[in-house]
Amino acid sequence: MIPPDPELSPRRAARAEAERLATAALPVQSASPAEVSPAEVAAAGGPTRRERRAGASAPSGIRSLVATRGLPLAARRRRASVLAAAVVVAVAGAVAIGAAATAGGRDDGEAAPGEATTTVVQGPPAVPAEGLPVPQLAAIAATATPCDDPAFTAALASGDDAAVIAAAGGGSAFRAAVASGIAPCVSLSDPNREWVVVNKQRPLDPVDYRAGDLVMPENVRALEQSALRARAAGALTEMVRAASDAGAGEIAYLSAFRSYSTQQSTYAGRVSVGGVEEADRESARAGYSEHQTGLAVDIVPCRGSCATLDDVAGSPQGAWVRDHAWEFGFITRYAEGRESVSGYEPEAWHLRYIGPELARAYHEGGYTTLEEFFGLPAAPTY
Ligand SMILES: [Zn+2]
Repeated sequence: MIPPDPELSPRRAARAEAERLATAALPVQSASPAEVSPAEVAAAGGPTRRERRAGASAPSGIRSLVATRGLPLAARRRRASVLAAAVVVAVAGAVAIGAAATAGGRDDGEAAPGEATTTVVQGPPAVPAEGLPVPQLAAIAATATPCDDPAFTAALASGDDAAVIAAAGGGSAFRAAVASGIAPCVSLSDPNREWVVVNKQRPLDPVDYRAGDLVMPENVRALEQSALRARAAGALTEMVRAASDAGAGEIAYLSAFRSYSTQQSTYAGRVSVGGVEEADRESARAGYSEHQTGLAVDIVPCRGSCATLDDVAGSPQGAWVRDHAWEFGFITRYAEGRESVSGYEPEAWHLRYIGPELARAYHEGGYTTLEEFFGLPAAPTY
């Protein structure tokens, strides 16, 4: 059981509770690894036997003995002495139960495989897991869709992605709602949204999409005349300045937005060098590239002159970006060892902007692919 966060407003707390219930009460969805973040998995786990034991009340006989009002004095005295004896018995019993529990020796109260359970529990039986009011909880979660919230749908209609996330109760609540399927009004295919997911199974729609608010980032060395969507460009400027202030060195970039036709020639160039199979592991086909969203950027480290994409991983800039890019709304989209999900070999240089709130949820949830973050199927191939 996660204690309520005292910092939360009642409205946010209600959303957080609904989110928690949605995870707990929808067995099919919570069985999917995408629904529960790695960090959440670590924190999860139902009540242990010890916790259930703690819920068992004292012998009910004591409570009836305490009610002595209205009895004649002699009867009350008699009852008082019986009560004292009962308390002694109850305390002794509790000590015995405690000793038995301690003798069990396992703090989680669960028997190891093949180990017999020796704990004797007295008093009312613990509520079995199957006895919990699951349908009731599911009903509460079902009504918690942000799509029924006028503030949320208004933010969605306004096109302000940050306002949408805020209306959902933050990045983590937004993610949970989308991944659990209770927010059908949110499209992960809308290329104008910072949460769009493009991969080998999810082409741009339309396939030749071109963002409308492309700008060059200020105060960042651009090795190509390549723009970004305005919010991502502003975030890159801030991130590059912060890296420099932290002593990590200069970060420049090569490629950001690439149009459908540019991507056609980029991909064709890779194919001509190494063949289709190799090209597909490193470069997207036209219409399938994150660069076409205007939300992706390939950075390079510089010290006077600039190094290559392959130098990012081993550079101080690369190390700083791994730890801090999320603070500015960027994630390392193609992480080490996740090719079977993302479809690409690790690219320490390829940053994807998803906005600071979602990037925080991604970072804090321990995610390494956007597919898992949003509960989407793996996209290893076309
Ligand atoms: Zn890239």
